[in-house]
Amino acid sequence: MPIPNYVILRELRKLHLRSSQDLVDDSLRGWSWDRPPLRPRAYLGLSVSEVTSYCPTRRDTWLRRMMKIYPESNDTLKTGLLVHELIHKTIKHVRKYLAINDNPWDVYRDVVEEVVGSAEIPESIRSWAVQLVKYIAIQLVAEASWSSVGDGINPWLSWISEVRVDGSLLGLSKNLRVDALTGSNIVVDFKLSKPYENHKLMITAYAMVLEANLEVPVDYGLIIYINGVGSSLNIKVESLCISSYLRKDFIDARDEVIDMVLGEREPPKATSCNPACPFKNYCGVA
Ligand code: SF4
Repeated sequence: MPIPNYVILRELRKLHLRSSQDLVDDSLRGWSWDRPPLRPRAYLGLSVSEVTSYCPTRRDTWLRRMMKIYPESNDTLKTGLLVHELIHKTIKHVRKYLAINDNPWDVYRDVVEEVVGSAEIPESIRSWAVQLVKYIAIQLVAEASWSSVGDGINPWLSWISEVRVDGSLLGLSKNLRVDALTGSNIVVDFKLSKPYENHKLMITAYAMVLEANLEVPVDYGLIIYINGVGSSLNIKVESLCISSYLRKDFIDARDEVIDMVLGEREPPKATSCNPACPFKNYCGVA
């Protein structure tokens, strides 16, 4: 979701300092997909979540790939899908309405009405979801108003959401979706959970895939944590450099998954499982 430009600029200043101490070697840029270490041993069309699995033994990937068992939906997954839909629709509708209406408050009102009215929101999280849509819409409309030139609003909005990218050059799926990309080429991922280490690997994967597709450096990422579901909206931003270390970790994780699938070794059940794991019934985990 859009966050104010001053927050992005503040985070970018910190990141510039960090990245100047870790210059990324060309061999770790996405555009070096045709040679080691980026060239994958096999092209399996892996999803980013398969490579960055939250399951300590990667059993979820095994179950999906080798046993053809599909994850069961649960409330956490459903809320995640709904939130991504609300964010995407709000960004899209603000862009559309700003192009035809130069009154920011009309745009704000119309977008909130349309997005909330067209989504199927469970009653238990309705007021929280409305807060979320209002928050995104107000950020975008305010940003557009401040950047207005002459008499009208400048309709340029720097965020694009649900960006489709082809990850196949790096052994990933052809149909990846990046949550958002800012005008300054910062890759953005939205999360409805507390921070986990694998979130950094996910955003690294997207950054490297973007580099492979666009042939421009993607050095920074923002993970936006959206929490307080069902009560009051709580948003935190974590900024990170897509460092050499993260890039190597992503390559190692991808190669481990490829080896596991090619080696046909069934991973054991984990001793500590994520309570929201959609395979827990199959694994018999409480
Ligand atoms: S229930 Fe546990 S072992 Fe099974 S896939 Fe999920 S996290 Fe892995």
